[in-house]
Amino acid sequence: MAGSTEPPALGPLIIVSGPSGVGKSTIIQRVLADPPAPLRLSVSATTRTPRPTERDGVDYHFWTPARFAAAVAAGEFLEHAEVHGNQYGTLRAEVEPFRRAGIGIILDIDVQGAEQVRAAEPRNTSIFIRAPSLEDYERRLRQRGSEDAESIARRVAAARAELALAPTYSYQIVNDDLGTASRELRAIIAQACARTRDDR
Ligand code: ADP
Ligand code: 5GP
Repeated sequence: MAGSTEPPALGPLIIVSGPSGVGKSTIIQRVLADPPAPLRLSVSATTRTPRPTERDGVDYHFWTPARFAAAVAAGEFLEHAEVHGNQYGTLRAEVEPFRRAGIGIILDIDVQGAEQVRAAEPRNTSIFIRAPSLEDYERRLRQRGSEDAESIARRVAAARAELALAPTYSYQIVNDDLGTASRELRAIIAQACARTRDDR
């Protein structure tokens, strides 16, 4: 309505999960390069060591275990979990102020975190991304060149258990062709943004 002082509709909360190496970051970056609506990727906190290309505050907030534990105790996390031997968590400050401003938030989080967020915020859209075959995860992780052999083995071993939870998500996308998968995620997010506007 012209001249309305109504606050903007709450930005949608988009949960994206899938085994390590499936292509989540790559697909999300493609959607963010051409977003269907105002959209932001939540920057998680982690105790993992940064990869050579990663920047603190951009890819993750790289925190010591002590700082992470203090944030848990202070209730700063919407969710947090141990994943592949490190702590990861979504900070409320990365989500709530932006949603209140009408900006959609993408969470790239594991299956444990997704379960916690779904319980805390029933108004969410969850998407599980999978590869055409189990072999693809290992191949893609090797190709990315970011993990040593032990880390690759740990991540591939976790994939089976993660895949078993795929049916708990609202949508599943198979990342075979990157362009197709990115268009599918973009379309799901566009729908979620339209729904949020209708809800007000
Ligand atoms: P994740 O964030 O899920 O761990 P990444 O986005 O880092 O995965 O992708 C892992 C690797 O797989 C990267 O080297 C990326 O370029 C590659 N990749 C992504 N999508 C595809 C695809 N459809 N086919 C082949 N390789 C892909
Ligand atoms: P990576 O170490 O490859 O960046 O991420 C490993 C896994 O941690 C991925 O499955 C990713 O989705 C997950 N992850 C990243 N940030 C978070 C977070 O804030 N919370 C949870 N629960 N998982 C996360």
